[in-house]
Amino acid sequence: MIQLGLIGYPLGHSLSPKIHVAALKACELDGNYSLFPIHPTDRQGLKDLLSRIRLGELHGLNVTIPHKQNVIELMDELTQTAKAIGAVNTIYLRENKLIGDNTDASGFLSDLKKFIGNRELGIEKSALVLGAGGSARAVVYTLLNDGWNVTLASRRIEQAQELANTFKDHVLHITIITDLRPSTLRQAQGNAFDLIVNATPLGMSPNTDQSPLPEYITLSKDAVIYDLVYNPRETKLVKDARAQGLQATTGLGMLIEQAALAFELWTGHNPPRDILRIAAEN
Ligand code: NAP
Repeated sequence: MIQLGLIGYPLGHSLSPKIHVAALKACELDGNYSLFPIHPTDRQGLKDLLSRIRLGELHGLNVTIPHKQNVIELMDELTQTAKAIGAVNTIYLRENKLIGDNTDASGFLSDLKKFIGNRELGIEKSALVLGAGGSARAVVYTLLNDGWNVTLASRRIEQAQELANTFKDHVLHITIITDLRPSTLRQAQGNAFDLIVNATPLGMSPNTDQSPLPEYITLSKDAVIYDLVYNPRETKLVKDARAQGLQATTGLGMLIEQAALAFELWTGHNPPRDILRIAAEN
C-alpha cells in the first residue's frame, strides 16, 4: 500500500488529494494521499513526520506553504534544482537518504511550453515576473535556464534583491516597485514583454475581483499571460487579458504537472495528465 501525503498549513482547500488519488487509480496502484497540517512553529511535528519516511511508513510527501524552506535543513540531500531555488516541494527516500526535490520548476516549464506551443519568439525572449516569493523563485530559475531575459516586479526591494542575488550568475534585470501600480505596467508595456507571469496571490479565491494588472491597462498585443493562481478556474487577470484578445492561462496545468512529476518520483509511474485534470476540475 503506497502512502503519500502533503505537509503544509492550512491545507483545507488543497487540490492535491484529488489529483494524486486519481493518479493512483489511473496507474492501478493501491494507496492513499493524506493531509498533514503541521503548524508553522511545530518543528517536532515536522521531524516526526519525516522520520516516518525513513521508517518506510510513508513513501513520499509534497510540501507547501509554510514549510517549503523549513524542511531544507531536515533533508540529507537536496537535488540541484531544490538547492538552486532554495525550496523543497517533494520528498522521498533514496538509498536510505531523505531527498528534498522541487518539481514546481519543471512543472512550470513543461506547462509553459505546452501553452506557448510553436509561437515564434525572438532570440531575446523577455518575461516580466510579478512577485518575488517562493513560486517566483521557481519561475525565475526556470525562465533563466530556458534562456529568457527576466524582469522582476516586486513590492519589497529586499525580497527582490535576495531573489536576484540567488541567481546573480545569470543576466537578470530587476524592476523594483512599491506596488503593482499602473506606472509600472506602463513601463512593462514599453518594454514589450513576450510573457507576463503572475506569481502573487492576487486574484486567488475568495478575492476573485483582484488582479495584479489594472483593467484599463492595455497590454502589448503579442503578450502571453501565465497566472500561477489556479483557483478560481478563470482569474480576473486571465479574463481581462482574454477580453483584450490575448493568450492567457491559469496555473492549473502547472499544478498538475508538478504533481505528476512528484508522483513519478515516488512510484515510477507516469500518470495520464488528462485524467488528473478532470479530477482537479471536479
Ligand atoms: P509567497 O511565497 O507568499 O509569495 C507571494 C508574492 O506575492 C510575494 O512577493 C508577495 O509580497 C507578493 N504579494 C502578495 N500580495 C501582494 C499584493 N497585494 N501586491 C503586490 N504583491 C503582493 O507565495 P507563493 O508560494 O509564491 O504563491 C503565490 C501564488 O502562486 C499563490 O496564489 C499560489 O497558490 C500560486 N502557486 C501556484 C502554483 C501552481 O502549481 N500553479 C505553485 C505555487 C504557487 P510580500 O512578501 O510583500 O507579501
